[in-house]
Amino acid sequence: NSSLHELDPDVAAAVDAELHRQQSTLEMIASENFAPVAVMEAQGSVLTNKYAEGYPGRRYYGGCEHVDVVEQIAIDRVKALFGAEAANVQPHSGAQANAAAMFALLSPGDTILGLNLAHGGHLTHGMKINFSGKLYNVVPYHVDAETGLVDMDEVERLAKEHRPKLVIAGWSAYPRQLDFAAFRRIADEVGAYLMVDMAHFAGLVAAGLHPSPVPHAHVVTTTTHKTLGGPRGGVILSTADLAKKINSAVFPGQQGGPLEHVVAAKAVAFKIAAGEEFKERQQRTLDGARLLAERLTQPDVAKAGVAVLSGGTDVHLVLVDLRDSELDGRQAEDRLHEIGITVNRNAIPNDPRPPMVTSGLRIGTPALATRGFTADDFREVADIIAAALQPSYDAEGLKARVTALADKHPLYPDLKK
Ligand code: PLP
Repeated sequence: NSSLHELDPDVAAAVDAELHRQQSTLEMIASENFAPVAVMEAQGSVLTNKYAEGYPGRRYYGGCEHVDVVEQIAIDRVKALFGAEAANVQPHSGAQANAAAMFALLSPGDTILGLNLAHGGHLTHGMKINFSGKLYNVVPYHVDAETGLVDMDEVERLAKEHRPKLVIAGWSAYPRQLDFAAFRRIADEVGAYLMVDMAHFAGLVAAGLHPSPVPHAHVVTTTTHKTLGGPRGGVILSTADLAKKINSAVFPGQQGGPLEHVVAAKAVAFKIAAGEEFKERQQRTLDGARLLAERLTQPDVAKAGVAVLSGGTDVHLVLVDLRDSELDGRQAEDRLHEIGITVNRNAIPNDPRPPMVTSGLRIGTPALATRGFTADDFREVADIIAAALQPSYDAEGLKARVTALADKHPLYPDLKK
């Protein structure tokens, strides 16, 4: 019964160092967030010990009376949060949610239509060496080179030409909102299912600050750890008629025992996401991204060859275009890392540089909004980033400004460093 520090000082030291990294730097990876302490408490609970194959009330193990309560709470809350008819809260991750949803709707060899990875899609939307690219016949759609927006004419043309069984709408790197009604119309025209992967923008949807895909899609998948701000994991929402197929695709189709400690943490996150404070935080997330896009389209930044894809943002992230900058994606990522801001380099559509280098950055605001950043703080962050992407920059001065912001908004003050 020793504590982690007593039993395993090596792992404890690495965990402590990670806590310190999170506390002392500015996290701007668009897919990351900070889970509340209550979420981590649930995730670190004795529920990790319990096998519970099956679903509430229909388990293949004894002693499930308490995890049944937890899982049913999670199901009820996420259904209410998004207005969905059915929910499966067991997928271990977003990738597994997508795998299970596709397993439920498709047979190997069926055709799927998904946003190309280099244009902002996710690996699970049909990347060649992902399960989705190996099991299914993938037809990718793209964003328009001029506008940076998903080319709905192309989506319609490809759908009519290839008659997919599944159309996937959703993205990992895209700064605008999708037209879910248009996607559904196209899917209906060719007799396809529509699956929306809202992993990135689920928190905005929960807060009512982004159109909901739920009324339009047959199936909606999400992660619970991005804008939604919960534990790492996945969820599948669906219409009632697909619920049985989805449940059986998750278990026994894809997974064994569910992670009930994570399901408990998801339940806590859904409770938080239904509240006013969450909505206010999502509004600050959006405001922060908009302020960043506005700053990065000012003349001094443009002069350094730095641009913003699509000219702005409607969501929680900004895609920076470095094609005309002397910095490539890797150099820009390293430069921001040097001053204490964590982002990820990102391939942009028709990127002239290789995927390990890229000509873009993806910069997101959810984690800083969770930390309490206000519009003024985001203006300061945007100014720091604008200065760091110039040909010459004052690393020490910028780092001091980053540290001042981190100190102003302490993260996990009650956890040990
Ligand atoms: N779907 C989208 C749109 C994503 O951006 C991601 C993660 O980056 C996933 C699914 C996969 O989630 P996970 O990393 O939990 O497997």
